[in-house]
Amino acid sequence: MKRLLSIVLFFIFLSQGSVYCQNEGPRPCANPEVYKNSKIKEYSAGGKYFEDWISKVERLEIARAAADNNEIYAIPVVIHIIHNGEPIGEGANLSLERINEQMIIINNDYGRVTGTPGFNIHPAGVDTRIRFCLATTNPVGQPTNGIVRINGNRDSFDFINDNVTLKNLSFWDPDKYLNIWVVKFTGNQYIGYAQYPFIQPLWSDSLPFPQPVPDVQPDGVVTEYRVFGNVPSGQSGPFSSYNKGRTLTHEIGHYLGLLHTWGDGSGCSDPNGTDYCEDTPKHGEYTAGCPANRQSCIPGTFVMKENYLDYTNDVCMNIFTADQKKRMRIVMRNCIRRKTILINPVSCAFVTDTPPKIKENKKITFSLIKSSSENEFIIESPDGLTLESIVVYDYLGKEIIIPVQKSATAMILRAQNLARGIYMAKIKASDGSLLKIRFRKL
Ligand SMILES: [Zn+2]
Repeated sequence: MKRLLSIVLFFIFLSQGSVYCQNEGPRPCANPEVYKNSKIKEYSAGGKYFEDWISKVERLEIARAAADNNEIYAIPVVIHIIHNGEPIGEGANLSLERINEQMIIINNDYGRVTGTPGFNIHPAGVDTRIRFCLATTNPVGQPTNGIVRINGNRDSFDFINDNVTLKNLSFWDPDKYLNIWVVKFTGNQYIGYAQYPFIQPLWSDSLPFPQPVPDVQPDGVVTEYRVFGNVPSGQSGPFSSYNKGRTLTHEIGHYLGLLHTWGDGSGCSDPNGTDYCEDTPKHGEYTAGCPANRQSCIPGTFVMKENYLDYTNDVCMNIFTADQKKRMRIVMRNCIRRKTILINPVSCAFVTDTPPKIKENKKITFSLIKSSSENEFIIESPDGLTLESIVVYDYLGKEIIIPVQKSATAMILRAQNLARGIYMAKIKASDGSLLKIRFRKL
């Protein structure tokens, strides 16, 4: 007997959010404060030695013809939810739904995904080909959903004084996972900070370097729970401009070596005010709100206020540029605690892929049914639309060829030979409607 496999069906209708403008002051990213007195500042993104190194690596890769092949870099994530004893879904103990939303948002943003708020038509805007998946194996080889919930037994954490305490509550090997801690910050002032990538000199280099190598615990991203995911109305506290999940997009940018677009400089004449990306116009200070046209330091050009590494409102943001992409990918291939993530990847699963964008006024309704015979998925069109084609992808977006039996209004996917995991299928109907579904091979 057929039964509906409701847990694997996601019909998500997304509409492009309209941009509205508010002026509530700067995005309170704490990275400039965190790195003000850091011992490894010169060896981290933005520091002299780091910037010399990354430009050298870029030249070497070009000389070796080791060009970026644009493959997807999938980064396994562990999310540490640090709460204060609340039940799941209340306060800092965020619901699974909010966590899943946040994972979708960062993939939409890093993927410049059509039909989502992460899409843009800017000439410099790109798909970074970097994606984020929740770990499915923990550091001791046990199955996990990539989410750790810890009662921190306190209301809030200070980003400087409590940094080590917070991270000692829970962290996984940063050679294999991107650690993301979700907390309530003390003082309603800051909403996120991240560990920059850093370099160690080669044995032949004579650079002074602090010993021992900096602790592993800080490596990752910390973010305020009230700006995590799509924040329901009234739950963002004092951070109402940052309610669309872009704080994590911004902070992961730092984790991958990006600097603020104004380089934390002070004014156009500050030579240190650079992000080392030529396609983000230099500007003298952060941008707040979402101003229509703000003059950059380059005559005749405007500040790229839509860039994720500025301080504009969440609804204003939708761009990573080609140079930012290049910089992040060099970091992923070459930096310690980044390249190891790619070399020996742990298993992980994507929350979802591109949400389906359904044409307006179409009454397309499909049923995904698991038949009585194991590993068969039957897709039917109750409206009688003819199903024309289906393409199946794995979680990395790679097309998978599997046997499909078709009739006019139904298809049977035969999944016997598929590995366990989550798959996407794109189904096209005779009227041009396109539907995307997810299914899980158990
Ligand atoms: Zn920042």
